[in-house]
Amino acid sequence: MTSEALPIFRYHPDPVATGAFEQRPTRCVGCGQDRGWAYAVTPYAEANLRDALCPWCVADGSAAATFGATFTELGEDVPAAIPQSVRDELAHRTPGFSAWQEERWLFHCDDAAAFLGAAGWDDVGHLPDAVAQLHAQAESWGFGREDAEAFVGSLDVDGDSTAYLFRCLHCGTHLAYADAG
Ligand SMILES: [Zn+2]
Ligand SMILES: [Zn+2]
Repeated sequence: MTSEALPIFRYHPDPVATGAFEQRPTRCVGCGQDRGWAYAVTPYAEANLRDALCPWCVADGSAAATFGATFTELGEDVPAAIPQSVRDELAHRTPGFSAWQEERWLFHCDDAAAFLGAAGWDDVGHLPDAVAQLHAQAESWGFGREDAEAFVGSLDVDGDSTAYLFRCLHCGTHLAYADAG
């Protein structure tokens, strides 16, 4: 097993903790080397690249270029102020994550936020900024206040509804959204 340090991902600072990379023997289809790590999320690509890429081919954009892969699909909800360079880094050089439904990246201070991982109430309950966003999201679905609080309190990494937690790289605000299986 390699003890080589993984590449640094500005917008996904701990991709081992989030499960994006798993340590296991893997011959990377990009560089042909076995560097002891596999990208464990399925990229958007014609070929099935799950468990087939090393972190370095994700980080340098070569996997995206070679296989036409996208790691995160950015929808129309990306704020207009986000520069193309940031969109490219997220889509093509940053490990993504899997969510129950289509994943969404979150933005703050005119930049993409750092993805911290899937989260339950135990992870977000002490973060008032994240909790307020989750309440607002539940209320936007038509939940009354009590139901919204109950929903947010029931969030669980392994349960029916999961939160996805981010932190702004500039002001430190925590950001979160939830989806349901
Ligand atoms: Zn590789
Ligand atoms: Zn911010």
